[in-house]
Amino acid sequence: MKAPMNAPADVPGAPLRLNADLHAHSRVSDGSLAPAEVVRRAHEHGVELLALTDHDEVGGLAEAASAAARLGLPFVPGVEISVTWGGETIHVVGLRIDPGCQALCDGLARTRSGRDARAREMGEDLARAGIADAYAGALRFVGNPAMVGRTHFARFIVEQGVCRDVHEVFQRYLSEGKPGFVPHRWASLGDAVGWIRGAGGVAVLAHPGRYRLGETALWSLIAGFRDAGGEGIEVVSGSHTRDQYRRFAQVAHEFGLRASRGSDFHGPDESRVELGSLPALPDTLVPVWLDWPETAQAISRSAPAPAGTDVPSTARA
Ligand code: AMP
Ligand code: MN
Ligand code: MN
Ligand code: MN
Repeated sequence: MKAPMNAPADVPGAPLRLNADLHAHSRVSDGSLAPAEVVRRAHEHGVELLALTDHDEVGGLAEAASAAARLGLPFVPGVEISVTWGGETIHVVGLRIDPGCQALCDGLARTRSGRDARAREMGEDLARAGIADAYAGALRFVGNPAMVGRTHFARFIVEQGVCRDVHEVFQRYLSEGKPGFVPHRWASLGDAVGWIRGAGGVAVLAHPGRYRLGETALWSLIAGFRDAGGEGIEVVSGSHTRDQYRRFAQVAHEFGLRASRGSDFHGPDESRVELGSLPALPDTLVPVWLDWPETAQAISRSAPAPAGTDVPSTARA
């Protein structure tokens, strides 16, 4: 049964049924669409509550927010911060951040600052592995030179015909132990969570199923994340299998974390999962967006007109 017109966010189940997509990238980091194009595409694919979460950068949020306002799509400013923890790269998503927060912006600028040197080194490694001029080639694919990363190298290597798709490039060249992989030290877990909270946001552990950590290390990561002030965990993610939805739903319960849902969309040709197309969160979970004002806005927009009002559906916003 659908919630009544202008249902408040506390109607049982209404927030869980929203098509929330709280993890997506634009050209401002390693996505292939402009921020406004990501918003338009999300709207076309039925997303009712959207966050843009570019890696280590908030520069796309103003464009995305105004595109979302034009479409009447409830929008949440976000970011995905790269963290080094226990020698692994971990991602922490920040949602409902204030993009103008100085401490957050300074922290993100420091996190971005090593990317160019790392990319030059990747170019040298790849040249030794037989792929020439990859640094210059990767730069042709960036929307934002400060955010040059592995995805841009992957696009160049596909363009060169060396691999069929970016996934193959990661398997053969860009993952740890492969010839184009250059280790890098990102932000600390405590700093990343602190910047997000300091900017008024909610910290969410991104795609926990992707980390190459044993059970004990993963437990200690999640406990450390929660102790640092982390409040949410991605359960239904474009990076997770159905078994992982169940596993991390259980983890969310055990650690008392709220649950998030996000496609991790990077572009129409590369992403396994389209914006807004993931299954709903298991209904035993508390969604991270439960009590946000943007959620109330999204629910009142998605509710049907009461019977007898005779409002054509196209006339409703
Ligand atoms: P970077 O921050 O430069 O290390 O790049 C990390 C990004 O590479 C991730 O956010 C993904 O977009 C992409 N990536 C990592 N592993 C893979 C993979 N196996 N297949 C496709 N893309 C990947
Ligand atoms: Mn990415
Ligand atoms: Mn990520
Ligand atoms: Mn991501």
